[in-house]
Amino acid sequence: MQVIDGIPQMQRASDEARCAGLKIGFVPTMGCLHPGHLSLIRRARELSQLVVVSIFVNPTQFGPQEDYQRYPRDLARDSQLVRETGGDILFVPSAEQMYPPGHSTFVEVEGLSQVLCGASRPGHFRGVATVVTKLFNIVKPHVAIFGQKDAQQAIVIRRMAADLNQDVDIVVAPTVREPDGLAMSSRNQYLSPQERQQATVLSRALGWARSRIESGERRAGVLVEGMRQMIAAIPGAQIDYVAIVDGQGLQPLEQLAGEVLIALAVRFGQARLIDNLMVRV
Ligand code: AMP
Repeated sequence: MQVIDGIPQMQRASDEARCAGLKIGFVPTMGCLHPGHLSLIRRARELSQLVVVSIFVNPTQFGPQEDYQRYPRDLARDSQLVRETGGDILFVPSAEQMYPPGHSTFVEVEGLSQVLCGASRPGHFRGVATVVTKLFNIVKPHVAIFGQKDAQQAIVIRRMAADLNQDVDIVVAPTVREPDGLAMSSRNQYLSPQERQQATVLSRALGWARSRIESGERRAGVLVEGMRQMIAAIPGAQIDYVAIVDGQGLQPLEQLAGEVLIALAVRFGQARLIDNLMVRV
């Protein structure tokens, strides 16, 4: 595995791979890798011949009060994991290279970026869309893999790639969970042992909603209220949102129909956790 930290060097490596007829698969991450990230790398390995993983904690997607400074970073451990999992190139640009003085171009996916996580994290998806566009221009992948864990992010990126004619296939891989159901996340490290235990309510609430839907429930209000009650029963859990929206436009639904996204964001102490379930009704 090769570690590349320069943008021109990465562009050259991708040009050479393309000239050699290799298909490039790309997994963008912010590091602090866990089995969820590694599943994306394995998927990229299946879909392409040159697997590029990036680690970049992107400052433009964090709000001023958010955890950019204390976001966990461990490059030595991460690079070992990428190597073991079959990555060919680990791309680790610096913030100074990605955003040199005078950088002033941003990508905004309107509408989809303003709801759900976008409502409580203004500018977050603008930062995500901008950095992913920049990374696509640097890595020049044929296919890029994202996690269903960040469902809204995947939907925003799919829209962006289509709207801007970015010549890359977007693949979304399933959420990897801990044995007790908690979706794996770098931010789970912020949880105290008690909060870690309480945080299982997210996947339990989604599981409850799924079973109600399987029993025929189609009223979004009933499902949202049931999930809110389960979460509110946990001391210290602060609900950011519990929403049932259509799986493409992210508009609120009254009755479940078609592809439906059930999405939650809940704060436990220092950690803001998200989880979701996509169902076809
Ligand atoms: P992050 O490092 O949090 O920016 O995530 C990088 C990529 O890994 C994104 O596409 C995430 O959706 C994906 N990811 C994060 N957690 C999981 C998980 N538990 N299961 C599957 N994919 C994940």
